[in-house]
Amino acid sequence: MQPPPQKQNVLIVGAGIFGISTALAFLEKGGYDVRVIDRAKVLPAVDAASTDLNKIIRAGDYASPTLARMSVEAVAEWRKPKWQGTYHESGCLVIAESPKIINGVATGGDDFVKAAQSNLAPLGITAVPLPTPADIVAHFPEEQRALLSNFEGKSGYFNPVGGWAEAERAVSVGMQMVLEQGGHIGAGMEIDGIVLSKEPNASGKKVAKGVKLKSGQILEADLVVICTGAWTPGLFPSPSFGVSTLLQASGQSVAKIQLTPEEVKKQSALPVVFDLSSGWYAFPPNPEGIVKLAIHGLGVLAPNSQGISVPRTVLTPGAEGGFIPKEMVDDLRAGLRGVFPALGEKDFSGTRLCWYTDSPSGEWLIDHQPDIDSLLFATGGCGHAFKFFPTIGSYVLQRHLGTLSPELSKMWSFQDRANDTGADHRREGDETRKVLEVEALATAEDLKFSRS
Ligand SMILES: Cc1cc2nc3c(=O)[nH]c(=O)nc-3n(C[C@H](O)[C@H](O)[C@H](O)COP(=O)(O)OP(=O)(O)OC[C@H]3O[C@@H](n4cnc5c(N)ncnc54)[C@H](O)[C@@H]3O)c2cc1C
Repeated sequence: MQPPPQKQNVLIVGAGIFGISTALAFLEKGGYDVRVIDRAKVLPAVDAASTDLNKIIRAGDYASPTLARMSVEAVAEWRKPKWQGTYHESGCLVIAESPKIINGVATGGDDFVKAAQSNLAPLGITAVPLPTPADIVAHFPEEQRALLSNFEGKSGYFNPVGGWAEAERAVSVGMQMVLEQGGHIGAGMEIDGIVLSKEPNASGKKVAKGVKLKSGQILEADLVVICTGAWTPGLFPSPSFGVSTLLQASGQSVAKIQLTPEEVKKQSALPVVFDLSSGWYAFPPNPEGIVKLAIHGLGVLAPNSQGISVPRTVLTPGAEGGFIPKEMVDDLRAGLRGVFPALGEKDFSGTRLCWYTDSPSGEWLIDHQPDIDSLLFATGGCGHAFKFFPTIGSYVLQRHLGTLSPELSKMWSFQDRANDTGADHRREGDETRKVLEVEALATAEDLKFSRS
């Protein structure tokens, strides 16, 4: 009798959405022993980008038709009972500065909004166009209008599909599924390098044999998948790996407001609101009555001694307060007052710098390291990967198996990447990212509302 085929030993580093979704895809495919490890002692890691109150689940609201279709496919998965109701289909109100009429021609407005809106119909989504401020207000039921501003200078559309996910709970649900399917998850295991073969293989490449932990322990594997999010460039600083030159950690500002039970009743039926001109967005209250608001913007850099930006989080000594730049507190409040004037007069109950793993194109990196066999990178979320939690691991598996479509292979590769593929509402403009100045961070006093 033939012995059963040996299972391939897959070691996934990082238990955020890339790591957990990849683990699920390999387990569901079968034939793999899957182990996920993470540096954090308690999982989900408190400072991971995936660990959050909530994340927007856009359905089709992408300028890229491919990402629009993929996001709709992900929503179909989110609705399944296995995600235990972590997804809430509130719909999304997408707004932007209205186009201006110059010499009788409509100019300006947000091209991303126009492109995204045009992608919805072919996907079977009937968005409600809201071309004027009055249309935006009139879209809401009478009893909600008192909560809203007059949306001066804005136009947009309402997408009834999509909404938001309870992010941290969804990651916990995903981790539970990994364990139920026979995978292993190890906390408090920080890697500080890859173990490479001494000799090159027949193709002339070194082979990843496993990882080295900070404790000195070696973990062996047939395939190493790196899903370390914004920590990736700092973990692989050598340009020879190709990640520190492609990816950059940028700190994005988030604030929270605690609502009273009375306010929760009024606000909870509202959709996610996303202003693509400023990048400002806010959620309906979560089950604890907390409203999260943030700005999808350039963010700030925190360079280490090698000049590589690395996340400065609540686990970084001296940064436990989670304070954000003072100017971002002001911008967040201005955005809030521009949409929900009454909420704009409440104190912020907390802030956080949450770290994107950015690439110039806004596209992820899901590719084998070109010079090292058995080493796969799955990261570069660029501030928009959470919504793909139920499906992103299947793309990682396809890359491993060589079955990823040519379009996606190119889009997420180490090489040949385009500069702008419509993944994102562009955040670059002519500006460059600022370096985080610790002295310019807000204080607890700055989080309070002041009329002055
Ligand atoms: C403020 C903010 C808002 C966002 N909003 C949205 C949204 O509304 N919708 C959306 O779709 N997306 C959103 N995103 C993007 C989304 O959250 C990310 O793309 C996604 O969560 C990235 O997942 P990840 O697995 O790559 O990284 P992470 O979730 O950060 O996970 C990386 C993991 O690697 C671990 N790790 C790091 N270094 C090591 C090491 N040396 N050894 C072992 N483990 C290590 C970390 O502890 C961490 O758990 C947002 C991101 C931020 C920051």
